[in-house]
Amino acid sequence: MKQIVVLSGKGGTGKTVMTGALAALVDNKVMVDCDVDAADLHLLLTPTIMERHEFKSGQKAHLDQRACVRCGRCLEVCRFGAVTKNLLIDAGSCEGCGLCARVCPSHAITMEDNLCGEWFVSETRFGTMVHAKLGAGEENSGKLVAQIRQAAKEIAKKELRDWVIIDGPPGIGCPVMASLSGVNAVLLVTEPTCSGLHDAKRVIDLGKHFKIPVQLVVNKWDINPVVTEQIEKYCTDNGVAVAGRLPFDRAVVDAVIQGRTIMEGDSPSLKSEIVKIWENLRGAML
Ligand code: SF4
Ligand code: SF4
Repeated sequence: MKQIVVLSGKGGTGKTVMTGALAALVDNKVMVDCDVDAADLHLLLTPTIMERHEFKSGQKAHLDQRACVRCGRCLEVCRFGAVTKNLLIDAGSCEGCGLCARVCPSHAITMEDNLCGEWFVSETRFGTMVHAKLGAGEENSGKLVAQIRQAAKEIAKKELRDWVIIDGPPGIGCPVMASLSGVNAVLLVTEPTCSGLHDAKRVIDLGKHFKIPVQLVVNKWDINPVVTEQIEKYCTDNGVAVAGRLPFDRAVVDAVIQGRTIMEGDSPSLKSEIVKIWENLRGAML
């Protein structure tokens, strides 16, 4: 079983469109949406949730008003402004340090596991998908990414799947690191703009750091052929293979509006380019 992550360095480059196309094209795989802060692969794959799991991370203080003698010690010691003047805990500000619980003379404060979100195992028209939803303002998305990747890996091993295909988070932060560890290849999707080149460089550097081969796809390459050439040259100069180019095509927008992948859309040229990209990527891993 091999794992591939689709990354972009930033959102809005067509990464999820590319991942959705691979979901439709590649047989015998498990899909994972690691963009847990703003998941959107489900819009294309319309999953039916089969399993639902809580995601807990860190702790928050809980204050039992019946036991509280209103001495104000918790308010005095909290350095995060999480205890209000009325002696209530503001969960959004509580950092879970536990100091208030330690100093409370009447044991009115307990530390409880923090429910940050949920993760799901779902069925789609293209097979199993593991995905998640992080609560608003919650942190630790890297930990949630690691958790859903582990779940996908276990399913793939148990059901003898050949591939785990991961829709990676945008950027290069902690969740991206979590989506990269242990993968066999990165498919980098970028657009032909100066910021696209900058973002591509950052992902290529990450790939180098983790010694993971990277292949490039320039999305909407024909809106700026000159910058496309520059990005592809930078890649080939830095040992990154060019898997393919996708042109700007109204069929992509139409497919997304209809909640379909581009492999289910109306553009034969796009479909054949996706097949070529997959053959290049797969060929490099054999
Ligand atoms: S656990 Fe720490 S951050 Fe949270 S309310 Fe208590 S002292 Fe403040
Ligand atoms: S330290 Fe304990 S008893 Fe004192 S105000 Fe806070 S919760 Fe109430």
